[in-house]
Amino acid sequence: MTTPLAKRITRHIEMTGPMPLTEYMHLCLTDPTDGYYKNRQAIGSGGDFITAPETSQMFGELIGVWCLQAWEQLGKPSPFNLVEFGPGLGTLMADLLRATRISPDFMTAVRIHMVEVSENLKRRQEQKLAGTDVPITWHDTLETVSNQPLLVVANEFLDVIPIRQYVRAGKDWRERAIALDKNGALIWTFGTGTLDPGFLPDDADDEPDGAVFEYAPAREAFIENLAARLCEDTGAALIVDYGHAKSAFGDTFQAVKNHAYTDPLLEPGLADLTSHIDFGVLARAASDAGAQVKPLMDQGDFLIKLGLLERAGQLGSDKSQAVQDRLTSEAERLALPDQMGRLFKIFAFAAAGVTLPLFDEVDTSKDRQNKS
Ligand code: SAH
Repeated sequence: MTTPLAKRITRHIEMTGPMPLTEYMHLCLTDPTDGYYKNRQAIGSGGDFITAPETSQMFGELIGVWCLQAWEQLGKPSPFNLVEFGPGLGTLMADLLRATRISPDFMTAVRIHMVEVSENLKRRQEQKLAGTDVPITWHDTLETVSNQPLLVVANEFLDVIPIRQYVRAGKDWRERAIALDKNGALIWTFGTGTLDPGFLPDDADDEPDGAVFEYAPAREAFIENLAARLCEDTGAALIVDYGHAKSAFGDTFQAVKNHAYTDPLLEPGLADLTSHIDFGVLARAASDAGAQVKPLMDQGDFLIKLGLLERAGQLGSDKSQAVQDRLTSEAERLALPDQMGRLFKIFAFAAAGVTLPLFDEVDTSKDRQNKS
């Protein structure tokens, strides 16, 4: 099916030649008139995909528990900024605030800032948070958020920041781009760009022709900027997304529509386009900018340590078997290694000297074993 964006991309390619993947991804997702997040109801059972906050209220609540502890470890700054990137339907923030409400001091200190590109989703977030009695403002970027100590949360935000892909062709790694076939359909091709070998993992020479390497300078720039800001104002970031701890080869670029994978070139602007996160590279970007990067944690471990099972038990007590079964299946979906528990990672970093709940706890289990 030809989409309005496909027509514009076609004209652009006819005039200027193949379009690098990063530009294609950027237009498809965030074009102000024909982009995916402008027009589609992306998230939820009636949309294209379901995220952790939409899977269970427990996800946002446990992030709230973590934020409250992190704020305490920061020395309870008041006021302070709680910033969320790409808040979707606003569910994570609504659930988070339900958990932090047990601390009146936190609720007095917190200033909420939602960084959201989609006008449509901004309205959904406003509706969701309408009854909230803490100040909430919306932003296009972090730049307009005032300088105060800050905590940052983001779920499935990094994966929509555009990437570049390079394909091995002999001794070169050539940039993947999009061209037109003789019938005018979008097809893969090579652009003119090549990758400086300095950006490749050490074992690049062992890769065969056709191997793919993903490089995401826009994600690195985002993390560097955020890390610099944490160092300037003090604070911490907790970023949840799917990906790998170490740079690796492979094509993880994907398109999702109506809860199924689809061809990313078929209907530009109508499918969500994402790729896995290379957390190794982003950890280096954060630490180069002066932040202290905490050990990467699996989502399952993180949520269980924060009390996922206890919370499920608490919500289910005195409830019907059907409710208890639903809570069990939500907890399993979030935490089991073959579901979201292992692929999704928690990437945390902070201003130098800031300790964070779970990430900086001294392991006393050995002591206990010795004593028993
Ligand atoms: N965090 C939500 C939504 C994830 S989808 C959840 O877990 O359910 C990605 C979100 O990022 C959407 O809200 C989308 O509109 C937003 N987004 C995409 N590109 C963005 C950008 N450049 N700046 C800010 N928000 C962006």
